[in-house]
Amino acid sequence: MELVVPHERAILLRYNEIALKGDNRGWFEEKLALNARKMLKRHLGNESLVSVSRKYGRVIINTDWNLDTQAALSHLFGVSSFSPMRAVPTNHESLKQGVVEEVERYIKTWGSPASFRVMTRRTEKALPETSMQIDSAIGGAIQKAFPSLKVNLNSPAWTVGIEVRNEKSYIWTEKVEGAAGLPVGTNGSVLALMSGGLDSPVAAIKALKRGSPVSFIHFYGAPFVGPEVLEKVNELTRLVNRYQPDPKPLWVVPFGKIQESIALKTNPKMRTILYRRLMMRIATEVAKNLDCQALITGESLGQVASQTLENMSVINEAAGLPVLRPLITYDKVEIVNEAKKWGTYETSIRHGVDCCTLFADRHPTIRAQKSAIDAQEKLLPLEEYVRTAVRSASRFLETK
Ligand code: ATP
Ligand code: MG
Repeated sequence: MELVVPHERAILLRYNEIALKGDNRGWFEEKLALNARKMLKRHLGNESLVSVSRKYGRVIINTDWNLDTQAALSHLFGVSSFSPMRAVPTNHESLKQGVVEEVERYIKTWGSPASFRVMTRRTEKALPETSMQIDSAIGGAIQKAFPSLKVNLNSPAWTVGIEVRNEKSYIWTEKVEGAAGLPVGTNGSVLALMSGGLDSPVAAIKALKRGSPVSFIHFYGAPFVGPEVLEKVNELTRLVNRYQPDPKPLWVVPFGKIQESIALKTNPKMRTILYRRLMMRIATEVAKNLDCQALITGESLGQVASQTLENMSVINEAAGLPVLRPLITYDKVEIVNEAKKWGTYETSIRHGVDCCTLFADRHPTIRAQKSAIDAQEKLLPLEEYVRTAVRSASRFLETK
């Protein structure tokens, strides 16, 4: 009688870095499993219960594989790679037949690979053989069914994986690269300053990749810039939010009138730094209200006049929280490559005026003197600016 092996599907998540976390490992895995569940629910857009189990340094998701699940999981930080799998009962016959069917499926889709090997992982010792014995028995069954396939144990072009567990075992033939990093929520929250350019969305994604949930703030230059700027920053926020299981809002601070008021009272060469220092003060207050522990900017050393070490240290002094600059050593080409990799590039290069270029001098100071900046700030009602700005900060609500 012909054996009918069930077609139950599952997905295997692998992780590197979090496995190194010693005693915290369980906590990290728990976070990853929870994030996986949330991401799938969000991306798949339904409430279908996706069960996620974690055991032996693996997270297994019991759900079907399609382009939507693949997209959802490729946005999940903490995953080094993932594989669609087929679950079969743990016995030799089911395994052999399941593997041969999966290999056939693979070859139909991707063509015949130059060489292969079987790699078994016995996380539960349900079968008496060693992993190597299972490798060679299953490898033999594959070769019998597909005689042209060659085995190469050292550098195979393709790997067929088997995870042996007590009741069910799993077979995988494909491996997709994950987003890597740490699960979001395993580090403290941060507030990202989003300007609508190329750099800040990449900086925000880098913070997420290190496990920090990210909230967003934009200093809005209206009435000197139009709502298209806000739409653009909002779209970038949405793109960054795809990488966190709990999306966070964009806070918008009306800044145009404040900039105009500063421009009327101060030396044009120092304005960019004065705006930046004020942004830091306001962002600090908003961050504290949101329980964020640091500010994130897209600055990189020497990229523009305000991003010299001297200017950055004067800007830092106005912040009441650490200012993290994930892109500090990146050059523009590297940032462009990152933006393309994470999917923010196309939106970032769309036209839009940045509020910081408003009222800016063409030759701003590149070596700010703290004493000169202090003298300029004495001319300004700083506390009032901060109070008004924090009070009028609002969550961006989409108009469409
Ligand atoms: P980006 O590509 O992110 O716009 P940039 O190269 O244009 O950066 P700047 O305009 O000097 O550089 O801005 C440096 C950083 O300051 C930005 O990455 C962002 O974090 C922050 N920033 C600048 N303008 C704003 C703004 N209007 N609202 C919020 N943050 C801002
Ligand atoms: Mg900018």
